[in-house]
Amino acid sequence: MSVSFRHAIGVDLSATNTTVIIANSMGEIDSERKRETDKSSIEAPVKQVIEMAEECLDEFPVRPDIYGIGVSCIGPYDTERGGILRTPNIDFDFVPVREPLRQAFPGRNFIRGGDCFGAVHAEAEYGLGQGKENVVYVTMSTGIGGGVIVDGKALVGMDGDAGHIGHFTVDSSPHARKCGCRSPNGKKRKGHWEAYGSGTAVAEITRSNTFGPGCVGFPGLPVESKRLVLSTTHERLNRDAEIDEIMAEDLYVAARKQMDYGPLRCLIDGINFYNTIGFAAVTDAYNPEIIIVGGSMMEDDDLILHYVRENLPNHAILTPPEIVKTNLGSRNVALGGIAMLSRYGGEKL
Ligand SMILES: [Zn+2]
Repeated sequence: MSVSFRHAIGVDLSATNTTVIIANSMGEIDSERKRETDKSSIEAPVKQVIEMAEECLDEFPVRPDIYGIGVSCIGPYDTERGGILRTPNIDFDFVPVREPLRQAFPGRNFIRGGDCFGAVHAEAEYGLGQGKENVVYVTMSTGIGGGVIVDGKALVGMDGDAGHIGHFTVDSSPHARKCGCRSPNGKKRKGHWEAYGSGTAVAEITRSNTFGPGCVGFPGLPVESKRLVLSTTHERLNRDAEIDEIMAEDLYVAARKQMDYGPLRCLIDGINFYNTIGFAAVTDAYNPEIIIVGGSMMEDDDLILHYVRENLPNHAILTPPEIVKTNLGSRNVALGGIAMLSRYGGEKL
């Protein structure tokens, strides 16, 4: 089923930023707002969404009829109670979403947790996954996550959490890096993809290689390479920086300054080795035609995806899919709200 409409509200409600768009069912955007998410009270995030949507609507000479609202919010989302459950970076046990939106915008709604679940719908409807039945969206950002469409159907899972690919194990060796997630006994799990390829992980790996002789599993950097990374951080911040201010992007920017294949490229490819195992697991698990990659790490896609494409057949048994950077940019999650509303029609409020 696919419903067409002239105007609907699409929302990306994440722990860091909130994006609200007005678009038609073809994914053409008329109006857009992006702001840092207001987390000052349990009502604040959705109150802000309503304010931003009103601002978007004020841009029209005549207030348009709104078909409904499609929301892709940070998970876990409780579909029974209609709100966001306790999640890292939002300090409330429950943030109501459906009820306040129902009052503000009577119409249809489709609300789901998981930014990648929304994004994969946008990629399949409006992005590089158009016309394809088997599409995986991977975000490489602060963490790593995925949204999966197989045989034209989006995978949901028992808890609505299918596609948690960032926690695929890519390193089972004794020196495997610790992930942010914890096992029931409270210990951090080890060797997950997110502990290698996410922005957080790349920054940590770079810092420890810059600070000491090199963290386990990665080559230590020569002094001149360490200096180059730190000077790149200085340039970005426009002041003297400390080692703990080094971000993932500094490694990639510094690597481009090195002639030929320098030690920084070697470190990047050490990380890319684990990225490739992650992409290979995605390939063999879902047999996608295309894997579309987004998130802040794709600012440096040239230094990541090329290696992954080249080396994927060393790890994956199935036909290598196309692996490409998203052409929808960071608004693909809000567009996902629109795509889901069009695809599923939405629940009548
Ligand atoms: Zn993990």
